[in-house]
Amino acid sequence: MNSNDRKVTQVITPIRVLEGAGVLLKRSIATHTLDYLDPFLLLDHFGSDDPAEYLAGFPMHPHRGIETVTYMLAGRVRHKDSLGNQGTIGGGDIQWMTAGGGIMHEEMPEPYEGMMEGFQLWVNLPAKLKMTTPRYQDILSADIPVIELTDGVIIRLIAGHYGDDSGAVTDIYADPTYLDVTLPPDGIFSHPVPAGHTVFAYLFRGKGSFGATASSGEAAQLVIFGDGEIVNVKASAEGVRFLLVSGLPLGEPIARYGPFVMNTRAEIEQALLELRNGTFIKSSG
Ligand code: MN
Repeated sequence: MNSNDRKVTQVITPIRVLEGAGVLLKRSIATHTLDYLDPFLLLDHFGSDDPAEYLAGFPMHPHRGIETVTYMLAGRVRHKDSLGNQGTIGGGDIQWMTAGGGIMHEEMPEPYEGMMEGFQLWVNLPAKLKMTTPRYQDILSADIPVIELTDGVIIRLIAGHYGDDSGAVTDIYADPTYLDVTLPPDGIFSHPVPAGHTVFAYLFRGKGSFGATASSGEAAQLVIFGDGEIVNVKASAEGVRFLLVSGLPLGEPIARYGPFVMNTRAEIEQALLELRNGTFIKSSG
């Protein structure tokens, strides 16, 4: 351990919320405890083997000013949007959607061999990109680089870098890291993340110690790191699996209203007005 190692500043246990048309999930960003972890606006972990807890899904709804990132571990979600895109994402797939100036979409889970599990992260856009043209990066599991180290560590490289390898998702303003890391029993993991970037781990299997000082986590927990250059994790005797996410903070004012996140109240009012008068969508596929 040295002075460049990031220490844990906060560990948050997710709260259970009912979202969309009635989907039960665990939320750890966008709560009373943690409203915003610049540039991350929301983190939800959905997981259930009971279709009654997720089949209602997220019927047609708008977004503006943000990116929504859906990473599936199991199950299937059918999506359809105002650009004319439609498709299904399943276990191991990622969808990085830049809503920009405005998109309407629906996200509907389908029953599929029981278990449904995954994550949705919202990443804020800077003022200059809030009204950018909407864009999707839909990447299948098979196209996500997987790094298997000799000591049994497995890293799915969704975004960012690991050694000379680059992630599947590219050209995102926040310059994000998004790794799905599995450590075997007592395994260790050490990874450089740019100083000044916001970094969190989301622990969802097993147990481990995070940071330069041992902060033992139990699934599921959000572990927030202070500044530094290196993130260290050590698995317990049962191993651990977690997301490691980083991004460039924006340091801009936030006006937030449901699926819209802008810089000012006036911009929110404008979005609501456009939604009412039918001018919300700026382009179509
Ligand atoms: Mn959505």
